[in-house]
Amino acid sequence: MSHILIIGAGGVSQAATVKCAMNSQVFTKITLASRTKSKCDKIAKFIKDKVGVDIDTAAIDADDTAAVVELIKNIKADLLLNVALPYQDLTLMDACSQTKIPYIDTANYEHPDTAKFEYKLQWAKDGDFKSANTMALLGSGFDPGVTNVYCAYAKQYLFDEIEYIDILDCNAGDHGYAFATNFNPEINLREVSAKGRYYKDGKWIETEPMEIGFSWDYPKIGPKDSYLLYHEELESLVKNIPTLKQIRFFMTFGQSYLTHMKCLENVGMLRIDEVEHNGVKIVPIQFLKTLLPDPASLGARTKGKTNIGCVITGIKDNKPRKVYIYNVCDHQECYQETGVGAVSYTTGVPAMIGSMMVAKGIWSGNGVFNMEEFDAKPFMDELNKQGLPWEIIEMAPNETRLIKEI
Ligand code: NDP
Repeated sequence: MSHILIIGAGGVSQAATVKCAMNSQVFTKITLASRTKSKCDKIAKFIKDKVGVDIDTAAIDADDTAAVVELIKNIKADLLLNVALPYQDLTLMDACSQTKIPYIDTANYEHPDTAKFEYKLQWAKDGDFKSANTMALLGSGFDPGVTNVYCAYAKQYLFDEIEYIDILDCNAGDHGYAFATNFNPEINLREVSAKGRYYKDGKWIETEPMEIGFSWDYPKIGPKDSYLLYHEELESLVKNIPTLKQIRFFMTFGQSYLTHMKCLENVGMLRIDEVEHNGVKIVPIQFLKTLLPDPASLGARTKGKTNIGCVITGIKDNKPRKVYIYNVCDHQECYQETGVGAVSYTTGVPAMIGSMMVAKGIWSGNGVFNMEEFDAKPFMDELNKQGLPWEIIEMAPNETRLIKEI
């Protein structure tokens, strides 16, 4: 019996809120609040028509901790799911620790002016949550989120020791535009234009953006060019799987996307600092967001599949072992069910499952936690029931699906 307060009303929120409504035995009441209330009302209408559940909506500025505290108290929320932007993580965490309710999010904190994403400031709130006798669950999307749970499942059930992890994220969906981003353009472009980084033999190694790449044969999709990026789950997995010798993250990009990115970068459109244009101050990357298609609108026109998974190598019973755990999701199937495509769906469904683990007390504790710190099994079981079934390929230790280096 839980009243969930969901903050943010974009594509990820739509998937998460629809799925919460479909699990109304757990989420007995839902309030959806965002900066623009009309976006919440639109999702509420979709849910009423599709699932037959009524939800409440509200306007909120999530940057204003006092206003969020007041809302939590007024509606008597039992837990808060943050699917607004990473900029709001800290203020929403403070509102939760002050009102002593659990906090769940899908992306680590980013400062709008520095494009630096790391867990440091969120982990630093561990004491606040411990004092409040409640918990924060960080990164309950797909990557981070399900990828952390795949690694935890491997650590807890499949291996005695994990040595190498490659996380491989493929979006083979075609939306028909020359250039558009899969989720919030500002967050997406900041992530993919940053320097790459991976962990090897106790050290972090920095690369130029898109410097390391290969063509990888994704199950049920086929070969796709994939490039090394820094991704936030690397930070927590290195901390929580101390036997790791190497962990890397790869994401697929088509040639058209890369060419557009290069041009935009060359002309300064990815800048995150203010510039003056005809006497008006603008941040170029925010202006670009205004021009690009709204990611939430891509669902209806995107055809094809995603495949996100982990190739994990290590030791089991004194013998080398290698497994590939992944999920394949179809954009149009996601759209038919929730009104959004696979990128929002694969993030919103785990956001709901993480909230469910917390609401049912299956995952519990006092403090700030990452996904891999809990028993992976109940979450893995729920993935199969809630629309994100996973598969495992047992690979020979020297087998690879790498087709060629780029
Ligand atoms: P959108 O930009 O589509 O939606 C963000 C929503 O947050 C909008 O409704 C926006 O309101 C609202 N919002 C922004 N600022 C505030 C504020 N100050 N107060 C209240 N509401 C606010 O983003 P997405 O749905 O694409 O992504 C949501 C989150 O999911 C992001 O944090 C993203 O990083 C994360 N994500 C995580 C992934 C994972 O696998 N872990 C993958 C993809 C995304 P308004 O309508 O007024 O603009």
